[in-house]
Amino acid sequence: YEAKRAGETLAVYRAEHDQYTWQRLTLIGELRQAIDKGRLDLHYQPKVDLATGRVRGVEALVRWPHEQKGLLYSDAFIPLAEQAGLIRPLTLWVFEHAVRQATAWRHEGLVLTVSVNLSVKDLQDVDFPRKVERIFHLEGGDPSRFMVELTEGSMMLNPERALQVISALHRIGLRLAIDDFGTGYSSFAYLKQLPASEIKIDKSFVRHMVEEENDAAIVRSTIDLAHNLDLRVVAEGVENVATLEALRRLRCDMVQGFVVSPPLPAAEIPGWMRRFSL
Ligand code: C2E
Ligand code: CA
Ligand code: CA
Ligand code: CA
Repeated sequence: YEAKRAGETLAVYRAEHDQYTWQRLTLIGELRQAIDKGRLDLHYQPKVDLATGRVRGVEALVRWPHEQKGLLYSDAFIPLAEQAGLIRPLTLWVFEHAVRQATAWRHEGLVLTVSVNLSVKDLQDVDFPRKVERIFHLEGGDPSRFMVELTEGSMMLNPERALQVISALHRIGLRLAIDDFGTGYSSFAYLKQLPASEIKIDKSFVRHMVEEENDAAIVRSTIDLAHNLDLRVVAEGVENVATLEALRRLRCDMVQGFVVSPPLPAAEIPGWMRRFSL
Protein backbone atom coordinates (compact mmCIF):
# COMPACT_ATOMS: atom_id res chain seq x y z
CA TYR A 1 0.00 0.00 0.00
CA GLU A 2 2.85 2.37 0.91
CA ALA A 3 4.64 1.46 -2.30
CA LYS A 4 1.48 2.16 -4.25
CA ARG A 5 1.22 5.60 -2.62
CA ALA A 6 4.89 6.33 -3.44
CA GLY A 7 4.33 5.20 -7.03
CA GLU A 8 1.44 7.54 -7.30
CA THR A 9 3.48 10.46 -5.95
CA LEU A 10 6.20 9.75 -8.50
CA ALA A 11 3.62 9.62 -11.24
CA VAL A 12 2.37 12.99 -10.08
CA TYR A 13 5.83 14.60 -10.44
CA ARG A 14 6.24 13.20 -13.93
CA ALA A 15 2.91 14.59 -14.96
CA GLU A 16 3.53 18.05 -13.50
CA HIS A 17 2.24 19.77 -16.59
CA ASP A 18 -0.44 17.27 -17.36
CA GLN A 19 -3.61 18.73 -15.94
CA TYR A 20 -5.65 15.70 -16.94
CA THR A 21 -3.39 13.21 -15.15
CA TRP A 22 -3.31 15.42 -12.09
CA GLN A 23 -7.09 15.61 -11.92
CA ARG A 24 -7.32 11.88 -12.46
CA LEU A 25 -4.95 11.13 -9.59
CA THR A 26 -6.81 13.52 -7.34
CA LEU A 27 -10.06 11.79 -8.17
CA ILE A 28 -8.53 8.36 -7.52
CA GLY A 29 -7.33 9.53 -4.10
CA GLU A 30 -10.73 10.95 -3.28
CA LEU A 31 -12.47 7.78 -4.43
CA ARG A 32 -10.18 5.62 -2.28
CA GLN A 33 -11.11 7.81 0.72
CA ALA A 34 -14.81 7.69 -0.11
CA ILE A 35 -14.73 3.87 -0.22
CA ASP A 36 -12.65 3.62 2.99
CA LYS A 37 -14.96 5.97 4.87
CA GLY A 38 -18.14 4.53 3.36
CA ARG A 39 -19.10 7.85 1.76
CA LEU A 40 -20.84 6.28 -1.23
CA ASP A 41 -24.54 5.83 -1.77
CA LEU A 42 -26.79 3.34 -3.53
CA HIS A 43 -29.77 4.13 -5.71
CA TYR A 44 -32.24 1.40 -6.62
CA GLN A 45 -33.98 0.98 -9.97
CA PRO A 46 -37.17 -1.13 -10.02
CA LYS A 47 -37.63 -4.05 -12.40
CA VAL A 48 -41.26 -4.64 -13.35
CA ASP A 49 -43.04 -7.79 -14.55
CA LEU A 50 -44.89 -6.97 -17.79
CA ALA A 51 -47.53 -9.69 -17.44
CA THR A 52 -48.57 -8.91 -13.87
CA GLY A 53 -47.47 -5.30 -13.48
CA ARG A 54 -45.72 -6.24 -10.25
CA VAL A 55 -42.32 -5.07 -9.10
CA ARG A 56 -39.99 -8.07 -9.23
CA GLY A 57 -36.98 -6.46 -7.68
CA VAL A 58 -34.54 -3.59 -7.73
CA GLU A 59 -31.02 -3.11 -9.10
CA ALA A 60 -28.47 -1.40 -6.85
CA LEU A 61 -26.53 1.32 -8.69
CA VAL A 62 -23.69 3.03 -6.88
CA ARG A 63 -23.48 6.83 -6.54
CA TRP A 64 -20.74 9.06 -5.19
CA PRO A 65 -21.83 12.29 -3.50
CA HIS A 66 -18.73 14.35 -4.26
CA GLU A 67 -18.07 17.44 -2.16
CA GLN A 68 -17.32 19.74 -5.11
CA LYS A 69 -18.74 17.93 -8.12
CA GLY A 70 -22.13 16.97 -6.68
CA LEU A 71 -23.71 13.55 -7.09
CA LEU A 72 -21.61 11.43 -9.46
CA TYR A 73 -23.27 8.56 -11.37
CA SER A 74 -21.59 5.19 -11.78
CA ASP A 75 -20.51 5.91 -15.35
CA ALA A 76 -18.38 8.81 -14.05
CA PHE A 77 -16.21 6.72 -11.69
CA ILE A 78 -16.70 2.94 -12.13
CA PRO A 79 -14.22 2.77 -15.05
CA LEU A 80 -11.75 4.76 -12.91
CA ALA A 81 -12.28 2.41 -9.95
CA GLU A 82 -11.59 -0.55 -12.24
CA GLN A 83 -8.36 0.96 -13.60
CA ALA A 84 -7.12 2.11 -10.18
CA GLY A 85 -7.63 -1.27 -8.50
CA LEU A 86 -10.46 0.00 -6.29
CA ILE A 87 -13.32 -2.06 -7.66
CA ARG A 88 -13.00 -5.02 -5.28
CA PRO A 89 -13.45 -2.95 -2.10
CA LEU A 90 -16.17 -0.97 -3.90
CA THR A 91 -18.13 -4.11 -4.82
CA LEU A 92 -17.91 -5.41 -1.25
CA TRP A 93 -19.13 -2.04 0.05
CA VAL A 94 -22.08 -2.24 -2.37
CA PHE A 95 -22.90 -5.80 -1.30
CA GLU A 96 -22.77 -4.96 2.39
CA HIS A 97 -25.06 -1.98 1.99
CA ALA A 98 -27.47 -3.71 -0.40
CA VAL A 99 -27.87 -6.62 2.04
CA ARG A 100 -28.38 -4.22 4.95
CA GLN A 101 -30.99 -2.28 2.93
CA ALA A 102 -32.87 -5.42 1.93
CA THR A 103 -33.07 -6.42 5.59
CA ALA A 104 -34.39 -2.96 6.52
CA TRP A 105 -37.06 -3.18 3.77
CA ARG A 106 -38.04 -6.66 4.95
CA HIS A 107 -38.66 -5.25 8.43
CA GLU A 108 -41.02 -2.73 6.77
CA GLY A 109 -42.84 -5.64 5.16
CA LEU A 110 -41.24 -5.10 1.75
CA VAL A 111 -39.69 -8.24 0.28
CA LEU A 112 -37.59 -7.36 -2.75
CA THR A 113 -35.02 -9.20 -4.84
CA VAL A 114 -31.93 -7.01 -5.04
CA SER A 115 -29.42 -7.15 -7.92
CA VAL A 116 -25.76 -6.15 -7.58
CA ASN A 117 -23.38 -5.46 -10.48
CA LEU A 118 -20.06 -7.31 -10.54
CA SER A 119 -16.89 -6.37 -12.34
CA VAL A 120 -14.26 -8.45 -14.17
CA LYS A 121 -11.86 -8.12 -11.20
CA ASP A 122 -14.42 -9.58 -8.78
CA LEU A 123 -14.62 -12.71 -10.91
CA GLN A 124 -10.84 -13.13 -10.73
CA ASP A 125 -10.83 -13.16 -6.92
CA VAL A 126 -11.29 -16.78 -5.76
CA ASP A 127 -11.96 -15.51 -2.21
CA PHE A 128 -14.80 -13.27 -3.37
CA PRO A 129 -17.60 -15.83 -2.75
CA ARG A 130 -16.36 -16.37 0.81
CA LYS A 131 -16.30 -12.61 1.43
CA VAL A 132 -19.85 -12.33 0.11
CA GLU A 133 -20.99 -15.24 2.24
CA ARG A 134 -19.55 -13.53 5.32
CA ILE A 135 -21.52 -10.37 4.53
CA PHE A 136 -24.78 -12.36 4.41
CA HIS A 137 -23.81 -14.03 7.64
CA LEU A 138 -23.06 -10.74 9.44
CA GLU A 139 -26.02 -8.79 8.05
CA GLY A 140 -28.53 -11.62 8.29
CA GLY A 141 -29.57 -11.58 4.63
CA ASP A 142 -31.02 -14.36 2.49
CA PRO A 143 -28.74 -14.96 -0.56
CA SER A 144 -31.57 -16.46 -2.60
CA ARG A 145 -33.21 -13.01 -2.65
CA PHE A 146 -30.15 -11.55 -4.36
CA MET A 147 -28.89 -11.57 -7.91
CA VAL A 148 -25.51 -10.71 -9.37
CA GLU A 149 -25.35 -9.06 -12.79
CA LEU A 150 -22.30 -9.61 -14.94
CA THR A 151 -21.46 -8.71 -18.51
CA GLU A 152 -20.16 -11.08 -21.14
CA GLY A 153 -16.97 -9.03 -21.19
CA SER A 154 -16.26 -9.75 -17.53
CA MET A 155 -15.92 -13.45 -18.44
CA MET A 156 -13.18 -12.85 -21.01
CA LEU A 157 -10.24 -12.64 -18.62
CA ASN A 158 -9.38 -16.13 -17.39
CA PRO A 159 -12.82 -17.65 -18.10
CA GLU A 160 -12.05 -20.78 -16.09
CA ARG A 161 -11.43 -18.87 -12.89
CA ALA A 162 -14.43 -16.62 -13.57
CA LEU A 163 -16.62 -19.70 -13.97
CA GLN A 164 -15.24 -21.12 -10.73
CA VAL A 165 -16.18 -17.91 -8.87
CA ILE A 166 -19.61 -17.77 -10.52
CA SER A 167 -20.32 -21.39 -9.60
CA ALA A 168 -19.35 -20.72 -5.98
CA LEU A 169 -21.69 -17.69 -5.86
CA HIS A 170 -24.42 -19.87 -7.33
CA ARG A 171 -23.85 -22.52 -4.63
CA ILE A 172 -24.31 -19.87 -1.94
CA GLY A 173 -27.74 -19.30 -3.47
CA LEU A 174 -27.25 -16.12 -5.47
CA ARG A 175 -28.96 -16.00 -8.86
CA LEU A 176 -27.17 -14.80 -11.95
CA ALA A 177 -28.15 -12.32 -14.68
CA ILE A 178 -26.21 -11.71 -17.91
CA ASP A 179 -26.04 -7.91 -18.24
CA ASP A 180 -25.75 -5.83 -21.44
CA PHE A 181 -26.56 -8.91 -23.50
CA GLY A 182 -25.61 -8.54 -27.15
CA THR A 183 -22.79 -6.03 -26.68
CA GLY A 184 -19.98 -8.50 -25.92
CA TYR A 185 -18.62 -11.44 -27.82
CA SER A 186 -21.58 -13.61 -27.03
CA SER A 187 -20.90 -17.26 -27.40
CA PHE A 188 -23.63 -19.84 -27.05
CA ALA A 189 -21.08 -22.28 -25.65
CA TYR A 190 -20.47 -20.17 -22.57
CA LEU A 191 -24.09 -19.11 -22.22
CA LYS A 192 -24.85 -22.83 -21.93
CA GLN A 193 -22.18 -23.26 -19.22
CA LEU A 194 -23.37 -20.43 -16.98
CA PRO A 195 -25.95 -21.08 -14.24
CA ALA A 196 -27.86 -17.95 -15.34
CA SER A 197 -31.53 -17.38 -14.71
CA GLU A 198 -31.91 -14.03 -16.46
CA ILE A 199 -30.71 -12.16 -19.55
CA LYS A 200 -30.79 -8.35 -19.74
CA ILE A 201 -31.03 -6.89 -23.25
CA ASP A 202 -28.74 -3.89 -23.52
CA LYS A 203 -30.41 -0.50 -23.73
CA SER A 204 -28.60 0.33 -26.98
CA PHE A 205 -30.95 -2.15 -28.73
CA VAL A 206 -34.04 -1.28 -26.73
CA ARG A 207 -34.04 2.52 -26.87
CA HIS A 208 -34.80 2.86 -30.59
CA MET A 209 -36.48 -0.47 -31.26
CA VAL A 210 -39.79 1.19 -32.18
CA GLU A 211 -38.22 3.19 -35.04
CA GLU A 212 -35.36 0.87 -35.98
CA GLU A 213 -36.41 -2.43 -37.52
CA ASN A 214 -32.89 -3.88 -37.03
CA ASP A 215 -32.97 -3.16 -33.30
CA ALA A 216 -36.45 -4.66 -33.06
CA ALA A 217 -35.20 -7.82 -34.80
CA ILE A 218 -32.32 -8.16 -32.32
CA VAL A 219 -34.64 -7.65 -29.36
CA ARG A 220 -37.15 -10.18 -30.73
CA SER A 221 -34.42 -12.79 -31.36
CA THR A 222 -32.93 -12.31 -27.89
CA ILE A 223 -36.32 -12.79 -26.23
CA ASP A 224 -36.86 -16.01 -28.23
CA LEU A 225 -33.35 -17.24 -27.43
CA ALA A 226 -33.83 -16.57 -23.71
CA HIS A 227 -37.17 -18.36 -23.63
CA ASN A 228 -35.81 -21.34 -25.57
CA LEU A 229 -33.09 -21.62 -22.93
CA ASP A 230 -35.65 -21.29 -20.11
CA LEU A 231 -34.25 -17.93 -19.03
CA ARG A 232 -36.23 -14.87 -18.07
CA VAL A 233 -35.54 -11.77 -20.09
CA VAL A 234 -35.36 -8.12 -19.01
CA ALA A 235 -35.28 -5.15 -21.37
CA GLU A 236 -33.31 -2.22 -19.95
CA GLY A 237 -33.45 1.42 -21.01
CA VAL A 238 -37.20 1.43 -21.69
CA GLU A 239 -37.92 5.14 -21.98
CA ASN A 240 -41.46 5.39 -23.35
CA VAL A 241 -44.84 3.68 -23.44
CA ALA A 242 -44.58 2.72 -27.13
CA THR A 243 -41.44 0.69 -26.37
CA LEU A 244 -43.08 -0.86 -23.32
CA GLU A 245 -46.10 -1.96 -25.38
CA ALA A 246 -43.87 -3.35 -28.15
CA LEU A 247 -41.97 -5.40 -25.55
CA ARG A 248 -45.22 -6.67 -24.07
CA ARG A 249 -46.33 -7.88 -27.51
CA LEU A 250 -42.99 -9.69 -27.88
CA ARG A 251 -43.60 -11.45 -24.51
CA CYS A 252 -40.62 -9.86 -22.84
CA ASP A 253 -40.80 -10.82 -19.15
CA MET A 254 -39.60 -7.67 -17.42
CA VAL A 255 -38.74 -4.03 -18.10
CA GLN A 256 -36.48 -1.50 -16.48
CA GLY A 257 -36.11 2.11 -17.53
CA PHE A 258 -37.12 5.72 -17.10
CA VAL A 259 -40.72 5.03 -18.25
CA VAL A 260 -41.17 2.94 -15.09
CA SER A 261 -38.73 4.71 -12.78
CA PRO A 262 -35.20 6.10 -12.74
CA PRO A 263 -32.87 4.74 -10.04
CA LEU A 264 -34.17 6.12 -6.69
CA PRO A 265 -32.67 6.69 -3.24
CA ALA A 266 -33.53 3.78 -0.92
CA ALA A 267 -35.86 5.93 1.19
CA GLU A 268 -38.08 6.66 -1.85
CA ILE A 269 -38.63 3.01 -2.83
CA PRO A 270 -41.48 2.14 -0.38
CA GLY A 271 -43.51 5.25 -1.34
CA TRP A 272 -42.88 4.70 -5.02
CA MET A 273 -44.12 1.11 -4.71
CA ARG A 274 -47.34 2.20 -3.02
CA ARG A 275 -48.07 4.65 -5.84
CA PHE A 276 -46.89 2.52 -8.75
CA SER A 277 -49.21 0.85 -11.20
CA LEU A 278 -48.57 -0.29 -14.75
P1 C2E B 1 -25.81 -1.06 -16.14
O1 C2E B 1 -25.67 -2.16 -15.14
O2 C2E B 1 -26.13 -1.44 -17.56
O3 C2E B 1 -26.89 -0.06 -15.54
C1 C2E B 1 -27.84 0.64 -16.31
C2 C2E B 1 -27.49 2.10 -16.47
O4 C2E B 1 -28.49 2.69 -17.30
C3 C2E B 1 -27.49 2.89 -15.18
O5 C2E B 1 -26.52 3.91 -15.30
C4 C2E B 1 -28.90 3.50 -15.17
O6 C2E B 1 -28.99 4.67 -14.39
C5 C2E B 1 -29.11 3.79 -16.62
N1 C2E B 1 -30.51 3.77 -17.03
C6 C2E B 1 -31.56 3.19 -16.39
N2 C2E B 1 -32.71 3.35 -17.06
C7 C2E B 1 -32.40 4.05 -18.18
C8 C2E B 1 -33.19 4.54 -19.30
O7 C2E B 1 -34.40 4.35 -19.41
N3 C2E B 1 -32.50 5.22 -20.26
C9 C2E B 1 -31.16 5.44 -20.19
N4 C2E B 1 -30.58 6.12 -21.17
N5 C2E B 1 -30.39 5.01 -19.14
C10 C2E B 1 -31.02 4.31 -18.16
P2 C2E B 1 -25.44 4.16 -14.14
O8 C2E B 1 -26.11 4.12 -12.80
O9 C2E B 1 -24.63 5.38 -14.48
O10 C2E B 1 -24.53 2.89 -14.22
C11 C2E B 1 -23.68 2.69 -15.33
C12 C2E B 1 -22.95 1.39 -15.25
O11 C2E B 1 -22.03 1.37 -14.14
C13 C2E B 1 -23.88 0.21 -14.98
O12 C2E B 1 -24.45 -0.19 -16.20
C14 C2E B 1 -22.93 -0.81 -14.40
O13 C2E B 1 -22.23 -1.50 -15.42
C15 C2E B 1 -21.95 0.06 -13.65
N6 C2E B 1 -22.28 0.02 -12.21
C16 C2E B 1 -23.25 0.68 -11.52
N7 C2E B 1 -23.20 0.37 -10.21
C17 C2E B 1 -22.20 -0.52 -10.06
C18 C2E B 1 -21.66 -1.24 -8.94
O14 C2E B 1 -22.12 -1.14 -7.80
N8 C2E B 1 -20.60 -2.07 -9.19
C19 C2E B 1 -20.10 -2.24 -10.45
N9 C2E B 1 -19.05 -3.09 -10.62
N10 C2E B 1 -20.57 -1.61 -11.51
C20 C2E B 1 -21.62 -0.76 -11.32
CA1 CA C 1 -26.65 -3.93 -14.47
CA1 CA D 1 -27.10 -3.25 -18.34
CA1 CA E 1 -24.15 -1.05 -19.15
